Amino acid sequence: MSLVRDAQNGTVTEEMKTVAKVEGVDPEFVRRGIASGRIVIPISPYRETRACGIGKGMRTKVNASVGTSSDIVDIDLEVRKAVVAEKAGADSLMELSTGGDLVEVRKRVIAATPLSVGSVPLYQAFIEAIDKDGAVVNMNPDDLFRITAEQAKLGTNFMAIHTGINLLTVERLKNQGRYGGLCSRGGAFMTAWMLHNEKENPLYSEFDYLLEIMLEHEVTLSMGNGMRAGAVHDATDRAGIQELIMHAELGDRAHEAGVQVIIEGPGHVPINEIDTNVTLMKSLTGEKPFYMLGPLVTDIAPGYDHIVTAIGGAISSSCGADFLCYVTPAEHLALPNVEDVYEGVMASRIAAHVGDMIKYGDRARGWDLDMARARRDLDWGRQYEVAIDEERAREIRSSRLPEDKEACTMCGDFCALKIVKENFDFDR
Ligand code: SF4
Repeated sequence: MSLVRDAQNGTVTEEMKTVAKVEGVDPEFVRRGIASGRIVIPISPYRETRACGIGKGMRTKVNASVGTSSDIVDIDLEVRKAVVAEKAGADSLMELSTGGDLVEVRKRVIAATPLSVGSVPLYQAFIEAIDKDGAVVNMNPDDLFRITAEQAKLGTNFMAIHTGINLLTVERLKNQGRYGGLCSRGGAFMTAWMLHNEKENPLYSEFDYLLEIMLEHEVTLSMGNGMRAGAVHDATDRAGIQELIMHAELGDRAHEAGVQVIIEGPGHVPINEIDTNVTLMKSLTGEKPFYMLGPLVTDIAPGYDHIVTAIGGAISSSCGADFLCYVTPAEHLALPNVEDVYEGVMASRIAAHVGDMIKYGDRARGWDLDMARARRDLDWGRQYEVAIDEERAREIRSSRLPEDKEACTMCGDFCALKIVKENFDFDR
């Protein structure tokens, strides 16, 4: 059995009830969404996970990625980053380590959080190939499938798997040229492996075997965007669209097999192409949950890429994207630290909410209404309570308190809200 099969058989499971309650929708709505493939709840038979609904009609969710690199291997740091991401309000984590003991770091991160955790099995397979056989191109496909099953047994809820890269996709990539190449590590590894070995991507050619593993361990399949362009100039190009078409076809096969599916989108997209990307993806895939990786809407702002991504994330969410991967201020510069993770999650959460205000109207805008009333009434306690980051709001105001405790030091004696409060009755 699987959650998809339960839903298709008319069973409303505990996870569906929990998600319905959190989202404020009917459990039957969630069940129908899962049955049709428009909603997923990444679960694992190997551990308790906080149920999180992603997809049509659900609040836009935010993922935070953590993990070591080959240069910085500090498992305690990665665990702290996971804990901070959860505290900042992330809905899921991706554990993307590429340095040190990859199994140990994943175990520790999974043990530290109730959130859904995702992984990319390809990283481990290629890194093991380098360690054992000297090069990425020596990766044995059997090892890749073994590692996929092993990661599932650790309690991984979803996996980014690069199934859409095939010989045709790579041909498109070779023929069109790009300014920024590929920014997907999995995509780059797999493309190198295919070109060197002159073989088809095993995740594509043995897709049915992959589905057996996903189904056996109840892992949600996040169709990895391996052709992801690393520059806004390369957005929405032939290789990217070719891979999306493959994901649409393979996604249908996965859903028919009873596997939950998410489709990964691009990471660098100019604002005027976001709507096209979301519409195209939703149309081709039968509205499967769309996971936007950022997106960055300009390439010129290293150090501020969390803000660049918040702009892209807000537009993506308003256009229909369901799931946003955060980007931190350290993107393109260094492995993020704890503070970077916190900033990144907050930025993407704001983006998700801004999009939800457009997608869901009053259901999401009630939050803004609460703040509007608290501001009008100069009710500072309530303003803190409803602020997305209560701690930050308290910290800033208390660091520079005004003479008149009702106002703030921005306008002091000339507080417009205070003048209005004394002279008008806007009590709505
Ligand atoms: S002092 Fe100015 S900024 Fe501060 S609450 Fe009053 S109107 Fe708003």
